[in-house]
Amino acid sequence: MNYRHAFHVGNFADILKHLVLVLCIESLKKKDKPFRYIDTHAGIGRYDLTGDEARRSPEWQEGIGRIWAAHKAGDIPEDVAAILKPYLDAVSEINYDGDLESYPGSPDLAATLMREQDSLRLTELHPADKETLTDHFFRDKRVKIENRNGYEALKAYLPPPERRGVVLVDPPFEHRDELAHMAKGAMGGISRWPTGTYIFWRPLKDMENTQKFDDGLAEWLLDDMEFSHEKILLADLWVKEIVEPGPLCGAGVVVVNPPYGMQEALLTVLPWVTELLQQDEGAGWRINAPEAEPGLEEQIDV
Ligand code: SAM
Repeated sequence: MNYRHAFHVGNFADILKHLVLVLCIESLKKKDKPFRYIDTHAGIGRYDLTGDEARRSPEWQEGIGRIWAAHKAGDIPEDVAAILKPYLDAVSEINYDGDLESYPGSPDLAATLMREQDSLRLTELHPADKETLTDHFFRDKRVKIENRNGYEALKAYLPPPERRGVVLVDPPFEHRDELAHMAKGAMGGISRWPTGTYIFWRPLKDMENTQKFDDGLAEWLLDDMEFSHEKILLADLWVKEIVEPGPLCGAGVVVVNPPYGMQEALLTVLPWVTELLQQDEGAGWRINAPEAEPGLEEQIDV
């Protein structure tokens, strides 16, 4: 297990994933009833952007760094700012004096936005990262953390007793067969709890296998689980031309049972975010276009 999220934290891929997570959590908060957040690959919780890893690999400067600068300068269009607000409020809460020095990972972001009646179940397989995560949340009674395989934990955690909530599956993709593991985990989890919201993060690197994952999951949901099309949402962002094999420059999520309004919110935010984060002319985004390949030419929307 060599992957350390601290080297990549706050990059473009984190932005889209975390924004989608925030939209799910804010939607669940519309009712008083408690809900649960399940994070199968939790990381360490909060990241120090002045720390050794983030300084050696400052990917965050081209991600949250650019968004933070636009936020501080008041350069975010009103409709986009309204959607980004809970996310940026959570980032502001841990950067009290206005300088961007810390970034909330998915569990920290969720915990900041969740209420007293809600709960969090986190799994992190790396022993040292699990310890850091445990230290981070040691006062928070809503949080339970286990050092175990996140895919296996899904079997034990689903369905949650509250019957409301969101599951984030965000593996490091260190192994070639990660998409296959994720597909198996997805089908196992959704079979147990078909009404939950799920976010599956995947890189846009090996496009053939990514397409296979997206199509396979959609086909199973539509044919075997009798889901309707609106219950599957795909959102991708790439900051430069995708070249295979090459460094990561695109990523996105497949959301199952997305909350009402998510597609519209992403259609408002993604064009602005893509323009802000682009690193060359090949940048783009897409929503709900599982059959389309990201390319150089144009943004593809619904
Ligand atoms: N979700 C985090 C966030 O957004 O802040 C980042 C998670 S990072 C991409 C993936 C994490 O999964 C790493 O911390 C890694 O140690 C952990 N991990 C790897 N394999 C795992 C497994 N099978 N089960 C649980 N955690 C695992």
